[in-house]
Amino acid sequence: MKLFTPKGTMFIPKNKIERPKKKKKKKTGKIILSACYCPNGHNLFDESVQFNELPSIKLKVVRGSDQGILALSPVFGDYSRVTIGISLKKGDKLDIRCPHCDTPLPVYSTCYVCDSQMVTLFLTPDANYARCLGICQRVGCHNSKMTENQRILTSVMRDNS
Ligand SMILES: [Zn+2]
Ligand SMILES: [Zn+2]
Repeated sequence: MKLFTPKGTMFIPKNKIERPKKKKKKKTGKIILSACYCPNGHNLFDESVQFNELPSIKLKVVRGSDQGILALSPVFGDYSRVTIGISLKKGDKLDIRCPHCDTPLPVYSTCYVCDSQMVTLFLTPDANYARCLGICQRVGCHNSKMTENQRILTSVMRDNS
């Protein structure tokens, strides 16, 4: 087989070109978050608490004079949680902050399910509202949504109370 064309350029038969196969998206409907940031760009993912071997989203929560750590499952729509240093009751309204810089997560919108506020977790380190996640600050209210460029990608509205 000739390796060079008459012009001197290398000839590579088409079927020898390896193209990376596109990974097929599994249609399980599960969205697993891989990064989440506070307004100052701190990554909120934490390896020390894991859900099914996935790192959790670690948040500082304040309720009156109590404060502690709330670790959430990174699977969107999975409301598994672990609390450290605080015990939460259904209906508690939490002040949710970054565990690194203590900055309160900004309000995303009012929750239309329970009238509390939804706070913003950014999906990129530059605090861009075009890609973010909104979660309700009330314990037990499972209203959350993920948006990209104002479009709602997915939302979960489940109130267990
Ligand atoms: Zn921070
Ligand atoms: Zn709510």
